[in-house]
Amino acid sequence: MADPVKIAFLGGLGEIGRNCAAIEIDNRLLLLDCGLMFPDEQMPGVDLVLPDFTWLRENADRVEGCVLTHGHEDHTGGLSFLLRELSFPIFGSALTLGLARSRIEEAGLLGRTELIPVVDGERRRIGPFDVEFIPVTHSVPHGFAIAFHTPQGVILHSGDFKLDLTPVDGRLTDMARIGAISYESGVRLLLSDSTNAEEAGHTHSESSVGKVLRDLFNEHHDKRVVAACFASHLHRIQQIADAALGAGRTIATLGRSMAKNVAMGREMGLLDIPDDRLIDIEKVGNLAPERVCVISTGSQGEPMSALSLMAAGENKWLKLGTGDLVVISAHAIPGNETSVGKVIDGLHRLGAEVVHSGIADVHVSGHAMQEELKTLLSVVRPEYFIPVHGEFRHMTHHTRLATAMGVAEGNVLLAEDGDVIELNDSGVTFAGEIPAGYLYVDGIVGDVGRGVLRDRRVLAEEGVVIVVVTVDAKSGEVLTGPEIITKGWVFAPEAEELLGEARAAVLASLEEAADSGGTDYETLRRHVRSALGRFVNERTRRRPMIVPIVMEV
Ligand SMILES: [Zn+2]
Ligand SMILES: [Zn+2]
Repeated sequence: MADPVKIAFLGGLGEIGRNCAAIEIDNRLLLLDCGLMFPDEQMPGVDLVLPDFTWLRENADRVEGCVLTHGHEDHTGGLSFLLRELSFPIFGSALTLGLARSRIEEAGLLGRTELIPVVDGERRRIGPFDVEFIPVTHSVPHGFAIAFHTPQGVILHSGDFKLDLTPVDGRLTDMARIGAISYESGVRLLLSDSTNAEEAGHTHSESSVGKVLRDLFNEHHDKRVVAACFASHLHRIQQIADAALGAGRTIATLGRSMAKNVAMGREMGLLDIPDDRLIDIEKVGNLAPERVCVISTGSQGEPMSALSLMAAGENKWLKLGTGDLVVISAHAIPGNETSVGKVIDGLHRLGAEVVHSGIADVHVSGHAMQEELKTLLSVVRPEYFIPVHGEFRHMTHHTRLATAMGVAEGNVLLAEDGDVIELNDSGVTFAGEIPAGYLYVDGIVGDVGRGVLRDRRVLAEEGVVIVVVTVDAKSGEVLTGPEIITKGWVFAPEAEELLGEARAAVLASLEEAADSGGTDYETLRRHVRSALGRFVNERTRRRPMIVPIVMEV
């Protein structure tokens, strides 16, 4: 009887974001990624969303470390929060650690956190875990699939991957090694990226974007070029730079993370831009516009990003106009479409020409599509399969691909956030649940909570009506007020009459309460709230938040 192995899914199975799982062997835990998720419109004022760390906190002394598949924030962005309460070493490629460290540093936690770089193909022991880091191609360099060699056989996690046969840096997804593991020992369980499981066919190679960019630079040789992409997408940045350099242009970066990542990429030898062809953004004004290419952040339409400010005509260094070509070399991630649309609109208003992925092939996905997912399944030939990294529909489609590729139907598990699964001698089964709700972060304060979010939605959609009244504590007699203050319910100057009636309704309810002997604070508050709520609803068919403030003297 070999020891059982467990996997707890803390996030990423049911949404794109906050990817996090914990593998358990011999009572020890190894985290596999620890990411964040960006909020949608249903979460007003929320900066980011994290996995629920309650269970990890309760098991803090069992956490051996964290292995990172790659440097995207949906895999690393939760660390700076978790590390405030827990301390453990982090393993990943040098670039992954470089990208992850800035948030950890900002949180002041770098001093007590060990970052341990691993190289392609490395296999190492981390406590009872035997972990192998296998190169994969993705939209950030130096990503890994991770093989866990466990007492219950090999668990292979694909990481975020695609099968790019002509990657910009020549570093292929190591299908040979994956095939070797499959032949040598077999793969007990495959966990694989479901992001594009609904998309038929293959992703295009990242290098295909290079030619499109070169053509654009040729066509628009008389214009200044501003190109926006993800700051972590060093291969895209390299291709934009190559096209610009080839067209005799000088490059400037715009946006804090872009400047930082370009500097880091050059330092690590992952980006090749000669010193004399890179200038400060403050100096672009000294060059003829058609000799300049600005590489910028803001491809997701983030409100305060460089590109958004440019689109609003508010950037300090660059004023865009008819002499500019703006290339948005990215795809809006779900939830960001509207803001990206606004940015594109603003750029058109300024007279700039805009090329985005809907117009030309200036972007390719970093996630495997169906044919690639099937190829991986055919090489791995796993005994068991669990789709990860996706919304429920993505994972559902991925289970179909797995069964179509020969994984026995009973061996395909559709797990969700909070599920714990166990590998033992008789198979892979569900083995319990842990808390895995959303942890909403606003500013640097932890959980905002569902109640706060509900309040914010009501305030945003219906407004608030506040009523202030002072009553005699003994008799319940109204001494001052009621005064009614409203924001977002009705336009006050035009609603004097309505407010007067509302005051009368509140007064009547207080008298009624006093008559029936209810003079305690809670009873009065309740009376005021329901009377006013009823009045507001009857007269306006609206349901603003009602806040009664009853003062007793
Ligand atoms: Zn990724
Ligand atoms: Zn991801």
